[in-house]
Amino acid sequence: MNRTEIVIIGAGSVGLAIARRLSTTGKKIVLLERHNTFGQDTSTRNSEVIHGGMYYPTGSLKARLCVDGNRMLYKLCSVHNIPHRKTGKLIIANTEDERQNIEEIYHQGKINQVPHLRMIEEQEIKRLEPNIRAKWALLSPESGILDATELMRYFEQEALRNGVTIRYDHEVIGLEKLKDSYKVMVRRDNGKIEEIITDVVINAAGLYADQISAMLGIDIGKNQYRIYWVKGEYFDVNEHHSGKMSHLIYPTPTPVSLGIHVRLWLDGSYALGPNALYVDEINYDVDPTHLDNFFSDAKEYLPFLEKSDLTPGVAGIRAKLQAKGEPARDFVIRNEYDKGLPGFINLVGIDSPALTACVAIAEEVARIYKKTG
Ligand SMILES: Cc1cc2nc3c(=O)[nH]c(=O)nc-3n(C[C@H](O)[C@H](O)[C@H](O)COP(=O)(O)OP(=O)(O)OC[C@H]3O[C@@H](n4cnc5c(N)ncnc54)[C@H](O)[C@@H]3O)c2cc1C
Repeated sequence: MNRTEIVIIGAGSVGLAIARRLSTTGKKIVLLERHNTFGQDTSTRNSEVIHGGMYYPTGSLKARLCVDGNRMLYKLCSVHNIPHRKTGKLIIANTEDERQNIEEIYHQGKINQVPHLRMIEEQEIKRLEPNIRAKWALLSPESGILDATELMRYFEQEALRNGVTIRYDHEVIGLEKLKDSYKVMVRRDNGKIEEIITDVVINAAGLYADQISAMLGIDIGKNQYRIYWVKGEYFDVNEHHSGKMSHLIYPTPTPVSLGIHVRLWLDGSYALGPNALYVDEINYDVDPTHLDNFFSDAKEYLPFLEKSDLTPGVAGIRAKLQAKGEPARDFVIRNEYDKGLPGFINLVGIDSPALTACVAIAEEVARIYKKTG
């Protein structure tokens, strides 16, 4: 039986950022991941946008960790040559209702201390983005894009260099609270079962964070930790339109998603998405019959678009804490000592903007870990 000080479950952007951050403490750390490499679930299946932080409610973890995470991520990407670009973003409006909506986002952004936000009108929009149709827009100069795979590779290599043991093809299948420690049961790809004893468990299991919580007897219904899977599909846009936009272009958001937006790639090509569909299975196929909806939504603000420009692309699945129709929820990041589980640091409902926030989330976890002492 192996003995360690910290077990982290999940090698997505969040688990890896935590592994890299805690690797500087000199503690013995094991990171367990059920896939054969990092980032196979949500962290490589998203818009790769570095968000500004204006959408989230005052005082929420999402607001604070997104605004801090944005700043920290640009710095880290610059220092360590991780491909990224501060493109800026326009949240656009074409009706009076939409204009009011983006003004509210502007005011929320000001409260959240998002830097340099500005409301702009048609003339300036035309100058910045001559190919789109929009009467008003909220300009967020601090929004941008990055290469999430290269970010995770950097975290992985840093963690390894600082002595973290990373075990791919190791699925956590059980957890047990012992007197002053935890027993972690792990199934390897060859079917062999192993046990690890650890002082601290950090749950960064994304789509399965509720199942990991339940393994320690947490009632996920009573504690509102049940995770709802919300799929987001993308459609690629024909390459002959590459370079037609330089900013990220977003419509006004809905309660479950930021809307079908223009997802820019670092090479100048782009896709449209994601939509938001509550699902009960993990299936990353894109339904081609959804093309009509994508086309009609995007045609509103991309007048040059033809239906034949669109082809099914990739999909990702969000780990949301709210059921369909319920209001948006905040991240849960806490030591579960009040549930009789001291040293179980639980991260649940880590949906957008967690890619942006991953470095700040890792700082938050380090702060909680320090108090665990
Ligand atoms: C369509 C879409 C668009 C998005 N766009 C953006 C965006 O533009 N900007 C942004 O900031 N955020 C965005 N997000 C959100 C962001 O992608 C996620 O919040 C973030 O990637 C979550 O990272 P994670 O490490 O928590 O989860 P994951 O990347 O899912 O990692 C969790 C890991 O845990 C592993 N795991 C699970 N259970 C076990 C187990 N039992 N044993 C071992 N390993 C286990 C999984 O295999 C997985 O690798 C988007 C999400 C979606 C779906």
